[in-house]
Amino acid sequence: MTAQATHGEARPGTATDPLVPLMTQICGRDGVVTDPLDLATYECDGLTAHRCSPGLVVLPTTAEQVAAIVTACAQAKIPFVARGSGTGLSGGALPRSDGVLIVTSRMRNIIAIDPESRRAIVEPGVTNLAVSQAAAPFGLFYAPDPSSQVICSVGGNVAENSGGAHCLKHGFTVHHVTGLEIVTPAGELTWLGDGTGAAPGYDLVGAFTGSEGTLGIVTKIVVKLTRIPEAVTTLLAAFSTMGAGGAAVSAIIGSGILPAAIEMMDALAIEAAEAAVACRYPEGAGAVLIVELDGPAADVARETAAVRGICEREGAYEIRAAHDADERAAIWTGRKSAFAAVGRISPAYIVQDGVVPRTALPEVLARIAELSASSGIRVANVFHAGDGNLHPLVLFDDSQPGAEAAAEAVSGEILDLCISHGGSITGEHGVGADKSKFMPKMFGPGDLDTMQLLRCAFDPAGLCNPGKIFPTPRLCGEAPGVRRAPHPLVASGKLEQF
Ligand SMILES: Cc1cc2nc3c(=O)[nH]c(=O)nc-3n(C[C@H](O)[C@H](O)[C@H](O)COP(=O)(O)OP(=O)(O)OC[C@H]3O[C@@H](n4cnc5c(N)ncnc54)[C@H](O)[C@@H]3O)c2cc1C
Repeated sequence: MTAQATHGEARPGTATDPLVPLMTQICGRDGVVTDPLDLATYECDGLTAHRCSPGLVVLPTTAEQVAAIVTACAQAKIPFVARGSGTGLSGGALPRSDGVLIVTSRMRNIIAIDPESRRAIVEPGVTNLAVSQAAAPFGLFYAPDPSSQVICSVGGNVAENSGGAHCLKHGFTVHHVTGLEIVTPAGELTWLGDGTGAAPGYDLVGAFTGSEGTLGIVTKIVVKLTRIPEAVTTLLAAFSTMGAGGAAVSAIIGSGILPAAIEMMDALAIEAAEAAVACRYPEGAGAVLIVELDGPAADVARETAAVRGICEREGAYEIRAAHDADERAAIWTGRKSAFAAVGRISPAYIVQDGVVPRTALPEVLARIAELSASSGIRVANVFHAGDGNLHPLVLFDDSQPGAEAAAEAVSGEILDLCISHGGSITGEHGVGADKSKFMPKMFGPGDLDTMQLLRCAFDPAGLCNPGKIFPTPRLCGEAPGVRRAPHPLVASGKLEQF
């Protein structure tokens, strides 16, 4: 069977072809994409190593349309995947060739900004930064700030429980979401949470946040807004070594001060940033720390002096302070551009995301340096040091046979290091399609089965973003079917398997 493409091109038949007329009825002709060239736009997210052309792409504009799309998929037993802006770095929005990709980029209404209750209600395709921009006239902002905030969607942030530089003090997405309108995997439009964050019963908003699009599709989000702080100071401290910088991070937190952000870059990341945006960080730095303090002016002044003292004691040889927006932007330019900047010093690279306890930073960073030296593969480090959330950038030349596999091996060993130091295989980029193989290194079979039970409670048919997070299909889940032995809780009759 051959489907007629939206823009006139023919494409090979797919399992989703029978849905095209109904999807066109729901979303209109310009809301359905079947042209192979146009479909290529959606074949990967920010992690380009995983690619798959979707069977069909739909671009709904309302929650009701999303519900109708999901209902049609559920009835036809066709898998579906949600996509926001496609900036994810773990292949979470990787589509299925036999499935429908539901893209929320046309759902961009900011429905309400309520300064009195300090809440906003937004549609899922609204960009993260747009929420703060809309709240700014009321002296408020939306605190979670992924570095991709200019483009990433709030729906994607909810699915990934995204963080950002300022989550050290202000918390992750989960701490700022109080209600979600969702379309369940069966196509029902419903609300989780009451918008106050104080509803009794299980915390289903919390369970949904960070579920990587596997429990349903978010169609409206109630978020908390935070008062713009009275004062902000940003410090840039240069150290000769990563070890000294890491020790300063532990000393700052150990002193009882909680900065809004503590970010760290190593010499290679600084070299890349200088090449890309000429950020003019202090010469000869083996590491720089960016420490931002916010709050009441008197507190910020006192804490700034204390942090300066700590950095000096830990060996900082130059400290710069920014007191206004322009000076602050100058300091942040290098950090915010770092991922893309690495393209200036390497043809290709892997962005890794792992977590270690803050106190283990000096040791883990030293081990990463050893790994890099022994493998001959360069690793640039730029990361949320205050959270112990590492982002090693593993550099390779993709024109060289075997180079990518070697870089993948180093990248995997870094995750092993994180696990062996009591950390995690992801801090904020999610598991997605990319890291599911690492889940059994962190969780036992019982843990994974319990997570699957939650997933099955929302999605018994296993059609909602299948193949993500979990290494193997289990229980009610994804093809090829049920787990052989029942989960102990199911066997004992305490839980029902759908
Ligand atoms: C340069 C760069 C910097 C980044 N910096 C950060 C950072 O500092 N902190 C951080 O946490 N992340 C960061 N990221 C990763 C990424 O931006 C975040 O994960 C972001 O939340 C993804 O949003 P998105 O709209 O692009 O989602 P997508 O990539 O489109 O999707 C991500 C996941 O969300 C699901 N999803 C999307 N919309 C919905 C919905 N409406 N309902 C249910 N599920 C949905 C998808 O199925 C997928 O599993 C960065 C990425 C880049 C490229």
